[in-house]
Amino acid sequence: MKIQLDGIKDDRFVRPLTHIVQLFFEEADLHFEMIDSPEFTVHIDVTEGDHTIRANAMGILHSTAKRYEATFEQNVSAEETEKERFRLIKSTVSYVLLSVLEEVTGMVQQWGILTGVRPTKLLHKKLQEGKSKEAAHAELKEDYKIQDHKIALMQSIVDRQLDVVPDLYDLGKEVSIYIGIPFCPTKCAYCTFPAYAINGKQGKVDSFLGGLHFEIREIGRWLKENNINITTIYYGGGTPTSITAEEMDLLYEEMYESFPSVEKIREITVEAGRPDTITPEKLQVLNKWNIDRISINPQSYIQETLKAIGRHHTVEETINKYHLARSMGMHNINMDLIIGLPGEGLEEFQYTLDETQKLMPESLTVHTLSFKRASEMTQNKEKYKVADRNEITRMMELATNWTASNGYTPYYLYRQKNILGNLENVGYSLPGQESIYNIMIMEEKQTIIGLGCGASSKFVHPETGKITRFANPKDPKSYNDGFEQYTKDKIIILNELFDINKTQV
Ligand code: SF4
Repeated sequence: MKIQLDGIKDDRFVRPLTHIVQLFFEEADLHFEMIDSPEFTVHIDVTEGDHTIRANAMGILHSTAKRYEATFEQNVSAEETEKERFRLIKSTVSYVLLSVLEEVTGMVQQWGILTGVRPTKLLHKKLQEGKSKEAAHAELKEDYKIQDHKIALMQSIVDRQLDVVPDLYDLGKEVSIYIGIPFCPTKCAYCTFPAYAINGKQGKVDSFLGGLHFEIREIGRWLKENNINITTIYYGGGTPTSITAEEMDLLYEEMYESFPSVEKIREITVEAGRPDTITPEKLQVLNKWNIDRISINPQSYIQETLKAIGRHHTVEETINKYHLARSMGMHNINMDLIIGLPGEGLEEFQYTLDETQKLMPESLTVHTLSFKRASEMTQNKEKYKVADRNEITRMMELATNWTASNGYTPYYLYRQKNILGNLENVGYSLPGQESIYNIMIMEEKQTIIGLGCGASSKFVHPETGKITRFANPKDPKSYNDGFEQYTKDKIIILNELFDINKTQV
């Protein structure tokens, strides 16, 4: 639909309002200036008072000449910072725009105006401020237009997280570690992670691992010197089991030697996402270093789908490797599934759930396909036919019901832009098998230090919660050229964050 939006002059509104329109129309044609023959015109007025911010949207659908109107007002205190005041104006304007678009299209946005990644973080914040659950829920409904069933989902996730990590709000004094290994056997079509096809690149792998060992040593030394403990470690990528068993062995040896009190770390996870990388030798190495939480990711149990998305392994291989891992001591296996893969509908997804039921992994992460700008799939969108919004929603309902009736409970969730049906990704687990790292990354209550290629660090101030980000480069060459400097930079940030007055390295 061709939409003309009048009355908004500030460029800072362009992105958030475009996101709101995109919730309704996949190919949003939104203009902030006068255009020829718009299909829908909406005029937004904002009135700022000392104590209130009020927005009014008046829309007209030209094909029917029908008018639509919405008004919303929020309180604002005189002491509010400029930034907070702007945030309130933005949410007030988003609210009225969303309201008229809901009326015009007849669609109800389950997450309301919330387009951010971490809805549960918002609820944690309100509860931490001392608000009752009822008051916090009322605010989520009134200020963001979130539907009741999504608020209930958020609350059950927050409750579950606090059961699993009762000291979640105090973990700012510890850190978690993310280790990024940027290699995979082949590149999947929807992937935007740093993942380089490994075949024939041994030279590159060797130099990359040299840099990674250096980072682990130096960061480990800093943590030991400053008595800072590690809560969780996560090996991701890429596929960290793409490297050889010997390389994995040396890496974990380095981890044990360099990091403080590794035996006390609450959880160590290694992504073994691609079943074609799992071998008995690599599982033995994981056993040797007491690592029993891995991820084996089927994504789908339909062979044609795997072929279409560029995963060069068979469904049978996923199942065999799952049994192999289980028989060799992996007690906590996560499996990722994706709703809405090309060519898949309800029937295919039901088949995938039926196959999952035969395995019953300890945890299951259900993603909804998202079209990320840089992926092969987005750049050649016409090649990949995906289910429509209604079917995607029904597939998500299928996942919700299936997990509930098989003993899984949701324990984290996150959303992405351009996600099919504007839904979410949900992590489920059997009782007591939740991944603490996933909770840490979602709720942003502690610093996560990223080591290796494409690893982003998120520094969370232990008292103020202020977040500073730092990204290692995504390609192995730039990483190899600069890993010493990236390590130094991170240590400088860590010294400031934990108020340590010395420069190391
Ligand atoms: S296995 Fe994962 S990281 Fe590797 S190419 Fe596929 S989606 Fe990307």
